[in-house]
Amino acid sequence: MQARNADYSQLCIHTITNRPWRLEEALENYCSRGIGGISVWQNIVDKKGANETAKILKQYPIKVVSYVRGGFFAHPEKSEQQKAIAENKRLLEEAAIIGAPLIVLVCGAHPEQSLEVSRQQILKGIEVILPLAKSLNIKLGIEPLHPMYAHSRSAINTLKQANDLAEKIQDSHVGVVLDVYHIWWEPDLENEILRCGANDKLFAYHICDWKSPQSDFLNDRGLMGDGCINLKSINTWVKAAGFQGFHEVEIFSNKYWSMDQSKFLNKILECYEKLY
Ligand code: ZN
Repeated sequence: MQARNADYSQLCIHTITNRPWRLEEALENYCSRGIGGISVWQNIVDKKGANETAKILKQYPIKVVSYVRGGFFAHPEKSEQQKAIAENKRLLEEAAIIGAPLIVLVCGAHPEQSLEVSRQQILKGIEVILPLAKSLNIKLGIEPLHPMYAHSRSAINTLKQANDLAEKIQDSHVGVVLDVYHIWWEPDLENEILRCGANDKLFAYHICDWKSPQSDFLNDRGLMGDGCINLKSINTWVKAAGFQGFHEVEIFSNKYWSMDQSKFLNKILECYEKLY
């Protein structure tokens, strides 16, 4: 059951977390519990179109925190790189329509080329879409991914690398998305979080937990408190870094998707309350 007097105004849920719900169901459930933010996944917009999605979102008292997810810039074929750029430009237009101020970037990697080459393509990709992002006033958030994804999903695997890249590009519209699932293990994490905040680059904060053991490295993420991530310490560092944005629950989980989603959402709220 939901605790009384709980404040969920800084809590945001990713639509993928409650994947079985239609957008309207998610919005009704989030708003009736006083949840302040929603991050919209691409599959929702793919299904409904950006205009229809925007129309629905506007009917609810909730803030659209981000559009998830762009990127995937790395590929050995030039034509595929260009396709990715075009796709990201389309996503930026969609983000503008649905009122999302930020696009989360899963930067990309490809098993047939080196990480260094992938990183060059990522840098180039971000630089090419940046003028459009700026003209639409949409921020680009580099999300470092756990190194187990370095072969195919992202060649940016630590917060340090994401900080380095954001500093290199040096633009107020390019920053970092910190997801605890990916960086909880990182040496010197506290200092890298503080560095990110000091640069004004900490754009978003994603929370969940790393279960031990887990049955699937993509779709068996835990609820906060289910696993071994020291969320209390990370929260303290994020706060010390000056971050005042939403705490976004992003959980891919076959186990939780098979549950009654309303009960799952109540569990999320319970775990959130224990953390704060
Ligand atoms: Zn994330």
